[in-house]
Amino acid sequence: MNGLMMQQPLLISSLLTHAERHHGEQQIVSRRVEGDIHRYSFRDMAGRSRRMANALGTLGMKPGDRVATLAWNTHRHMELYYAVSGAGGVLHTLNPRLHPDQVVWIADHAEDQILFFDLTFLPVIEAIASRVKTIRTFVAMTSRAHMPASTKVPGLLCFEELCEQHAPEFAWPSFDENTASSLCYTSGTTGNPKGVLYSHRSTILHTMASAMPDALNVSTRDCILPVVPMFHVNAWGLPYSACMVGAKLVFPGPGLDGKSLHELFESEKVTVSAGVPTVWQGLLGYMDGNDLKFSTMRRTIIGGSACPPAMMRSFQERYGVQVLHAWGMTEMSPIGTVCTLKGMQAGLSADEKMAVQAKQGRAVFGVDMKIVGEDGAELPWDGKAAGELLVRGPWIISQYLKGEGGNPLVDGWFPTGDVANIDANGFMQITDRSKDVIKSGGEWIGSIDLENIAMAHPAVAMAACIAAPHPKWDERPLLVVMKKPNAEVTREDILAFYEGKIAKWWTPDDVVFVDAIPLGATGKMQKMKLREMFRDHKLPTA
Ligand code: AMP
Repeated sequence: MNGLMMQQPLLISSLLTHAERHHGEQQIVSRRVEGDIHRYSFRDMAGRSRRMANALGTLGMKPGDRVATLAWNTHRHMELYYAVSGAGGVLHTLNPRLHPDQVVWIADHAEDQILFFDLTFLPVIEAIASRVKTIRTFVAMTSRAHMPASTKVPGLLCFEELCEQHAPEFAWPSFDENTASSLCYTSGTTGNPKGVLYSHRSTILHTMASAMPDALNVSTRDCILPVVPMFHVNAWGLPYSACMVGAKLVFPGPGLDGKSLHELFESEKVTVSAGVPTVWQGLLGYMDGNDLKFSTMRRTIIGGSACPPAMMRSFQERYGVQVLHAWGMTEMSPIGTVCTLKGMQAGLSADEKMAVQAKQGRAVFGVDMKIVGEDGAELPWDGKAAGELLVRGPWIISQYLKGEGGNPLVDGWFPTGDVANIDANGFMQITDRSKDVIKSGGEWIGSIDLENIAMAHPAVAMAACIAAPHPKWDERPLLVVMKKPNAEVTREDILAFYEGKIAKWWTPDDVVFVDAIPLGATGKMQKMKLREMFRDHKLPTA
């Protein structure tokens, strides 16, 4: 017997229709690439998205066509999020931090048809315009007054002109909720990047689950500033969840330095933000150096790589901002777990709470997870046994675009490539990426633990722990450290800092200092590059 409820497809356009109807006056503020601050309402944004949907029709976008962006977090990018997907196209957010050769490879693989870009990236566009195989239209996301005088891009169009030339009336089409809506490529640290194709259904379900109180906890009373780029897994879904709940949105545009961010946090009374640890490092460094505080910020979501407890303490104890540690992947839309304490943990001491917060958290409803040993057998949830983490759920990938890499699933579960433990309360803790694991005498050493300890040292700006070859133990930990500016610290100081904090045999065998730790296009430490750099490093023999 079927239930007798309406069948309505879950479509991204419904988020915009809802935001316009119920939160039409709510504001969206952007620091524009042109340098000024732009301010308008959800109602205005919805009208311009419809104009852009009409424009996409004129440009020949057909259902399923990929429309790419190379853009910062701004209101124009937000308009494209809704115009492209809402009208039945697939929004492909390219990562502008990639090398132009990689951009060409990805755009060709995705068979992008139209490319919208911020003026900052004009040099990239000029470098790739004659090389990409399928892109037939380039649109600069600016007004006529700011259009480049001369360019090597033939037939370059202007975003604001397209908007003006098209009417704000457009009826969002209805179609199957399983239709593709947007596309992101994995960072591709091994092999070529692979396309992850989200659907309208997966996006709406992810949006609902991620807004929940024990997840990102966003509401219409919030003012959200997503620092995480809209080209990094759809800014963790915030452009969608803000519409669903009617939250004010503040887009930082290209201004991701500490000063620009802090000014915007304060002037727009931001309450919630989200980003990877490396971004927060810049902001906290600037605030520390200038003795600044936050007056309205209440929470920040930190994920993408492990948030060092030292950073959490700084946010929470010095600035009164609660840190929500979160974990996910491009293949998971991205949210899998968020770390919020359970009611029964309210009585824990501050240190005990911090130990829980350092974990990546509990699965949000919709995501199921398990850890398995090398034989594939499930491991207990005792907070100790560590194994590969597998996940499943309605916003988790079933296969990559064009079937690249074959079937990624194992008995219906997606292997994440992360190594984790799960405690009896369901809190998951990542100890490593499986390819970054350090195996000493057959036993795993958790590199994230070792990095977190080093990051708590006052002289350390960033630390990465990698495996170095060892004649007796196969591999031993080598700590690579980038010092804070003008800080003085020796190898011995750092090694002494580990005493009493971990099992003695986990202590790194050596410490090397570098001017900079290489970061990937989404701000993650590139351990593969470091392993390459220190391939011939001779560890001291005891
Ligand atoms: P990406 O698809 O580029 O977002 O990368 C996903 C990977 O980032 C995960 O598989 C993890 O290895 C890592 N990651 C994401 N969030 C965290 C976190 N909170 N702690 C540790 N690693 C994380």
